[in-house]
Amino acid sequence: MRLKTYITEYLRGKSLIRFITFGIIGLLVATVILVGAFSFYGEYYRIKKESENLRISYSSDQKQIIQNEVNKAIEYIEYNRSLTQDRIKYDLKLRVDEAWEIANNIYNENRSTRSEAEIKKMIKDALRPIRFNNGRGDIFIYTTDGVSVMLPRSRNFENRLSLGLRDSLGNYLVKNEVALLKVVNQGFLSYRSPVDNQSSDSAIFKYTYVKKFTPFNWYFGSKDYINDFEDILKQNIMLWLSNVRYGNDGYIFINTLTGKALLTNGNIPDQPIDIYESGDTNWIRVFRQQQLAVKNGSGFIEYRFKRLASKDFEPKMSFVRPVKDWGWIVGAGYYKNDIEKEIAGNLNSITTRINGWLIKMIVLILLFLIFAFLFAGFVSNKLRKEFGRFTESFKNASLGSGQMNKEQISFFEFRELADSVNHTILERDNALKELEKGQSLLRSLIDSIPDFIFFKDINSNYVGCNKAFADYLGMTEKSIIGRSDYDLFPKVAADIYYENDKKILLDHIPIRNEEWTLFPDGSRRLLDTVKVLYTDVRGEVLGIMALSRDITEKEEIQQQFKVAKEKAEESDSLKTAFLANMSHEIRTPMNSIIGFSSLLTEDSLSDSEKAEYIQHINQSGESLLNLIDDIIDIAKIEAGQLTVTYESYSLNEMIRELQATYSQLIDRNSNNLVNLIVDPVELPLGNTIMTDPFRLRQVISNLLVNAMKFTSKGTISYGFMPEGDNILFYVRDTGIGIAEENHRIIFNRFRQAQNAGKKHYGGTGLGLAISQHIVELLGGQIWVESKPGEGSVFYFTIPYKPVNKELSLNDLGRRERMRQYNWSDKTMLVIEEVDSNFNYISAALSRTGIQLVRATGAKSGIEISISNTDVDLVLIDTALSEMDGYIAAKEIKKHRSSVPVIVEVPDASQDVIERCREAGCDEFVTKPVKFNVLMNVISKYLDKKE
Ligand code: ADP
Repeated sequence: MRLKTYITEYLRGKSLIRFITFGIIGLLVATVILVGAFSFYGEYYRIKKESENLRISYSSDQKQIIQNEVNKAIEYIEYNRSLTQDRIKYDLKLRVDEAWEIANNIYNENRSTRSEAEIKKMIKDALRPIRFNNGRGDIFIYTTDGVSVMLPRSRNFENRLSLGLRDSLGNYLVKNEVALLKVVNQGFLSYRSPVDNQSSDSAIFKYTYVKKFTPFNWYFGSKDYINDFEDILKQNIMLWLSNVRYGNDGYIFINTLTGKALLTNGNIPDQPIDIYESGDTNWIRVFRQQQLAVKNGSGFIEYRFKRLASKDFEPKMSFVRPVKDWGWIVGAGYYKNDIEKEIAGNLNSITTRINGWLIKMIVLILLFLIFAFLFAGFVSNKLRKEFGRFTESFKNASLGSGQMNKEQISFFEFRELADSVNHTILERDNALKELEKGQSLLRSLIDSIPDFIFFKDINSNYVGCNKAFADYLGMTEKSIIGRSDYDLFPKVAADIYYENDKKILLDHIPIRNEEWTLFPDGSRRLLDTVKVLYTDVRGEVLGIMALSRDITEKEEIQQQFKVAKEKAEESDSLKTAFLANMSHEIRTPMNSIIGFSSLLTEDSLSDSEKAEYIQHINQSGESLLNLIDDIIDIAKIEAGQLTVTYESYSLNEMIRELQATYSQLIDRNSNNLVNLIVDPVELPLGNTIMTDPFRLRQVISNLLVNAMKFTSKGTISYGFMPEGDNILFYVRDTGIGIAEENHRIIFNRFRQAQNAGKKHYGGTGLGLAISQHIVELLGGQIWVESKPGEGSVFYFTIPYKPVNKELSLNDLGRRERMRQYNWSDKTMLVIEEVDSNFNYISAALSRTGIQLVRATGAKSGIEISISNTDVDLVLIDTALSEMDGYIAAKEIKKHRSSVPVIVEVPDASQDVIERCREAGCDEFVTKPVKFNVLMNVISKYLDKKE
């Protein structure tokens, strides 16, 4: 098991192809090496065995050889010895036979003539001198009873009974001869005789030949000592044996039993060497071994002895055998090392053979390896390609495209694999398509839901979400996946979400809660979140799924409803206050108008009283008109119709007008307790600017009127100064001041800062609201700096748009004053239903000398404009009962396009301007028509023509 694990671990991440390639090569190499090793070991074992056998057979061969050599030597000795004995015997017989023949001849010759004694003497005489064998041999005669008859060399011993004669070994000589001749007529006898000058183990052999000579009861005989022959024989034999060689340095050695080396180291020493005297202890030891070995015949001995050639001491085995008669030990030996040399030689040749074999083997292995490498390379290449195709195919399949081309695959198994891969891919593709369909359906569904849907794993990390959630976070789903709430939300919020997650994972009970959530973009959203667990098919919890609905807007709408409700309630109370104020604001001037008007009817009034009353009436009218203007303005603001019209305007002129209007008014209202101070400055590029003069004046007038209203003594100062690209206007007073908390709300409509129950200052709460709106329309801002009891400063800005033509304050005044209109040659058609209006126009234009033609209805007006060609200009009131004034204007323009048509309109709203343009009107004036405006507009058309 552990091995399996180890192998699995080892193979992890390894290339299969490399593994197979190197596996094949490894196995092949291992096989080759194993086979080689086995063969090598077999060869080695064979050599060892052979060597062993060789050693055994060699030693037995050698033993055989040395035994043979020794036997051969001894045979040779024996043969030569026997040859010598035979010759001796032959010679002896020949001589004795010759002697016998002689004796017999003598006997036969003389027997008849001579006495026995004579004949005996003749025979003796004839035979006594016979010598042979270098004088060594002679003929002796005994009687068959053993009495010596003739002893040529020992005459003293003749005629003696010699039966008791014995040789050195105790053999009876004559007795034996007599005994022999009793049986046969002739024969040989041999004896060993001790020789004086020979050691005791040597003996002298003596042969005797005897032959009966029956006529006298004699027997003839002769004897010879073999020793004399044998000395020579020994010398010859030794000479011959000294030349015997066999094997490597093999030779025959001969020692005497008494320890004399006769033939040693293949040489005959000059003198026999006495081994015991040689001082060579090894030799002495070896000799003793030889002595022991020959005691029981023959035998092998082992010892160390010096070599003939090298003189080195080497282990040797010898065979020794005695030649008893000569007292010799004949031996031959062999050097055991010779076989080792031979074996070494054998080994050498075998090693050479093995080396050759090894080289062949290595070459073979190399060739084999090259082939294996090439084959493995080919196979691995092939496999790699095939695998590559599979890999590529899988990759392609994973990217969605296609099937494997089976034709590119070679191996049958891979083809089958390719088939099943293709089949699997097809199945998978189909399944994927189905899955994709289902998923895209589900995805579209999830993504189309505006609520947030997200999934987390059991560690509260996001694993998916819908588009709405990703969009809300300003991230992509990909970048959300893997993050936790701590990565997406502030810690405080994330803590809560995490706790909720933990709770649901523990309790398995869905959670629903509403939570204000701070999003990464800084926005706060109210989320109504439902969290549930989602599981796999086995019911195992995979994570948390949540659906969060952004109910911020719902909540906001609810809040807005609440605010709107509160506002409505507030508006209601404001409206009530406003109505009360209105009533007051209308009633006051109306009372004045009605009161003074009735007083005017009194006849007793002086002119100054009348003038004063008319002024009261006028002022009240003005204030009523102001009130109406304010109401109209606020209505326009509400309708988004308040517009500004730019033209060049001299601020100096404005100051002049304001001074003229307000200095007296303030003096009068405050009983000279309040001063009006103006601080005009010269702007860098002049005081004539592009602006809406009427609206600008309206704002400053509002502020001045307020300052006047809330200041009982002290100073009201106003003016303007450059401030960057703007002009900063200000109105400062030393009045009651405004509490900080009201600094903003006083700019809301109907809002007033003063508390109820205190001094009643009147007003409608519209002025500042209108002013703020106008300033903003002009591109500026308005604000107040004030402290209760210390007075207030109202500031506002408008862009500084200077105009080049500049008129000085004085020039302008003079020009205005000097301006006189003379339109006595002009005719103007006035279409006006209301008499008072017409009267006002008529009075205003009376000094210009203009000819006025009045039409009291639209239709008559149109008719006059067509029929009366003198008409130079038409003024139409748009508020006509008979026909809409704009239509009438259009009709007139249709017939008299060259005649300028001016319309009187209720206001300068966008709608009004649009209608004027559509009708083809040349100009409009707002009602009530101011004198100056009227004069300027008429002058524009009538004076232009001149
Ligand atoms: P109103 O017709 O009431 O004057 P405004 O919109 O002009 O309406 O002013 C709103 C309120 O602002 C005033 O009712 C008053 O309480 C406060 N206010 C305006 N100007 C001044 C000022 N110069 N000094 C003190 N209070 C002022």
